Amino acid sequence: MSRVGKILALFICVALFSKSLEGLGQPPNLISNLNMDRQAKWPKSGIETVIDVCWENPSNYTLERALVKEAVENTWGQVANIRFRGWGGCSTTSKGIRIRIDDEHPHCKGLGTAIMGLPAGMVLNFTFKNWPHIGNSSKQEAIQFIAVHEFGHALGIAHEQDREDCRCNKEPQARGGGWFVTPCDPNSVMNYCNERWNNYGQLSYLDKRGIQSIYGTRYVYSEAGVVTFRDQLGSGDVLENVYVNLGGADITLNVSNESPIDIRQINFKQSGRYPYKVYSRTRNQQGLIIEGYGEGTLTLDISRNYKINLMGELKNGRYRITLGVD
Ligand SMILES: [Zn+2]
Repeated sequence: MSRVGKILALFICVALFSKSLEGLGQPPNLISNLNMDRQAKWPKSGIETVIDVCWENPSNYTLERALVKEAVENTWGQVANIRFRGWGGCSTTSKGIRIRIDDEHPHCKGLGTAIMGLPAGMVLNFTFKNWPHIGNSSKQEAIQFIAVHEFGHALGIAHEQDREDCRCNKEPQARGGGWFVTPCDPNSVMNYCNERWNNYGQLSYLDKRGIQSIYGTRYVYSEAGVVTFRDQLGSGDVLENVYVNLGGADITLNVSNESPIDIRQINFKQSGRYPYKVYSRTRNQQGLIIEGYGEGTLTLDISRNYKINLMGELKNGRYRITLGVD
């Protein structure tokens, strides 16, 4: 945020980084969970993160491939600001996520961008003969449960149960992660300790909040009834994370030196008064973390669109935040 009264906006990603980088205590619960490999986040292009997906040996598995696409787009692709693109056959030069279909233990060869363009970076099983571990699930369910889990790895998420604070009787598997943003989530699709296998392909509350805190929240465009939030890193700041709840809808804005402007939108369907709450964490060049908070009400007319500026006023070491309508 810029200084007093300036249009601000700077709020940070510190919640995400604080524990691993600075050894602070538990991060605030507004930013969530997941055991993430921080280096493995896919880059954003424009307003969203676009990840190409292709099949190395699509053969005749039309239904199975459609099930995978549906499961992934209805989970990670629906809640986070991520678009999976392509889904055709791979060429030798295909980047993004390259999926090989094989009858073996499904897996990814790395987390997040570690599999970018990597041949057979993800392996999915559609036949379950050599690896018949689908329990009581139908084959179609198993394909979807596994797809959601493996795409979690492809987005950079390690196993939740590998965290020291999240163990059960399962052996920790693989490596990676280490960027814990909240307490252990027993319901995660990424947790082998979850009694519901891959949480039956449904993202848990914290899976959703976690992926949104990393990639941002999905939003849709519409003709009117759109509130656009803009956050820009202030001079003298390094990172900022802003969490806004407007009338029950949540968004998270992340800005840093690498990506100093973030824009998010919320759709609203009725005119009226919408209460809001805003939290922020900003880290400046001295390494100090400045928190911020604000609440109030916006009166919105359905026939209009709004641009919202986040204004921060530094008082007693905290930002007092108000939303200003453009
Ligand atoms: Zn796994």
